[in-house]
Amino acid sequence: MDATQGGGGVGVVGVANKQQQTNSSTTTTARWWWWPPRSRSLATRRALPAVCVVAAAVAAAAVVLTANDGAWWGRSPDGMPAALFFDDGAPGDWDPRSNITADHLLDGLLTADFTYGSCRSRYEFAGYNKESSHKPSPYLIAKLRMQEALQKRCGPGTAAYKEAVRRLDSGEGVVDDGCRYLVYISYRGLGNRMLAITSSFLYAVLTERVLLVDGGSDAADLFCEPFPGTTWLLPRPGWFSFSPLRRLQGYLGGSKQSLGDMLRSGAVAVSADGNVSWSAPPRPPPYLYLHLSGGSGYGFHEKLFFCGAHQRLLGEVPWLFMWTDNYIVPGLFLTPPFTGELEAMFPEKDAVFHHLGRYLFHPTNPVWHAVTSYYRSTLAGSAQRVGVQIRVFHKEQPPQAVLEQVLSCVRGERLLPETTTAGGNASGTPSHAVLVTSLSSWYYERIRDEYGGRVAGGVHQPSHEGRQRWRDAAHDMRALSEMYLLSMCDVLVTSGYSTFGYVAQGLAWRRPCVMPRAPMWSDDWREGLDPRDMPCRRAASVEPCFHSPSAYDCAAGRDVDLDKVTPYIRRCVDVKCGIKLVNASSSQW
Ligand code: GDP
Repeated sequence: MDATQGGGGVGVVGVANKQQQTNSSTTTTARWWWWPPRSRSLATRRALPAVCVVAAAVAAAAVVLTANDGAWWGRSPDGMPAALFFDDGAPGDWDPRSNITADHLLDGLLTADFTYGSCRSRYEFAGYNKESSHKPSPYLIAKLRMQEALQKRCGPGTAAYKEAVRRLDSGEGVVDDGCRYLVYISYRGLGNRMLAITSSFLYAVLTERVLLVDGGSDAADLFCEPFPGTTWLLPRPGWFSFSPLRRLQGYLGGSKQSLGDMLRSGAVAVSADGNVSWSAPPRPPPYLYLHLSGGSGYGFHEKLFFCGAHQRLLGEVPWLFMWTDNYIVPGLFLTPPFTGELEAMFPEKDAVFHHLGRYLFHPTNPVWHAVTSYYRSTLAGSAQRVGVQIRVFHKEQPPQAVLEQVLSCVRGERLLPETTTAGGNASGTPSHAVLVTSLSSWYYERIRDEYGGRVAGGVHQPSHEGRQRWRDAAHDMRALSEMYLLSMCDVLVTSGYSTFGYVAQGLAWRRPCVMPRAPMWSDDWREGLDPRDMPCRRAASVEPCFHSPSAYDCAAGRDVDLDKVTPYIRRCVDVKCGIKLVNASSSQW
């Protein structure tokens, strides 16, 4: 199966033709602008008629703006027009119901229990990821099917869920029906969120809990449901509810009901032989927060989450609310009760995100339509697609230094031709195309000036948003599209420390050339450093980096060097104290 050539992929040709009829129309742009996202609450929907009057005026203004400037929301000259996010719901030419193969279902990773039309990316992604020869283990597949059954049996809409919420709201810390829950609290940018959801999911599988995502306002606009016959989105309690589920977004890193605070205050204790005693109150509470986010508030007691005895403690609590922006998976491998289970699920240790990311995340039809249309029109025809992801965290860092780092990396790794090859290779296929993703267009313009005349497939940037935005569904949809476009490239240059790049490299199974974080930015950045001295290095694996691991060995009662604990965990190149999973036999670099 090959969806990567210019002629179009599985099931997308019909959609593409229809798209051409609507493309670049200002009315389509305006329509997208105030198209109500599906995740809006009932209350919001009821308020829509009133809002529409205002929206119509704003939409009219948007049409004027669009007419004056095709890039009003940050589109590059060859950028991704808003109209690409329009999905008319028409099926493509390919109907997989008659022809689903193991390839479409990623060798058993995915269940066939979803219709094709409801989520095309689920069946089509494999066509863009054809080089992945990494098969999920039968044990992982069995665990996923068990998790799907649990999500269906205990998830929202079931009698078990209703009863569990009633108990939670009335303060009863009882587990009944075998249904326990893990709620992921969403915050930070999309890459962080995707890594944190993956971590939460794996923890839910390991502890036999139902995963629910308190996904912010736009989760349903970005991703299809991963579990058949149920939802993973946490139903919102009513406005006047006193449910703890109502207060999740107000957590902001502190609560007496968090594991760390309860251990600190002595409300719960774990003895040297691993016995758990609850004292205030003298029984497990109905819920606990887990604070696993780097930075302030993430100290010694919070990190005891990664101890076996503390996992026994958590097993007694029916609801856990997980606050994290991290990829904690390497830490789970170091947590004794999980190590054996994880080793059995993932014989290839460096394929955890590759499998779970492709299992969980399926862009919705509008996002997928934008991805595949843009891919076909800019990247598909080239033999070698080079993705360059530029993320600048430090405001003071001169753009010129970042650019120098990118260009030195591209030259040093010989990723692009240094002489003109505009004609492409002998068969006429353009040899290279470049995809640049960045919040700024400045880097794209400089790279285009440098390489535009030398790469026959051109230099492209889908959008330049200017700055990161919060609670903006359209912004997040573009970010998601770009992660997937990067994952369709053959070679990646990424910015260290950025979870945006981690997602792309993991989905794609591409070990990127990483432009390291230090000493180029953050507190380490100093005037006078030459970016050409350390432009980039090849990542040790495609796995994301866990930025804030615990070095505490619970059994030994002291800190250890995490680099030396097991052959499949190594320090990350881009984050000094971070760790990542690697193939145990791969050489260090
Ligand atoms: P990180 O902060 O680099 O680890 O990545 P995150 O994805 O967690 O947060 C950065 C957010 O900024 C993204 O989710 C986007 O909203 C936005 N962003 C950053 N870089 C880009 C980019 O290249 N393209 C687009 N469209 N958005 C970006």
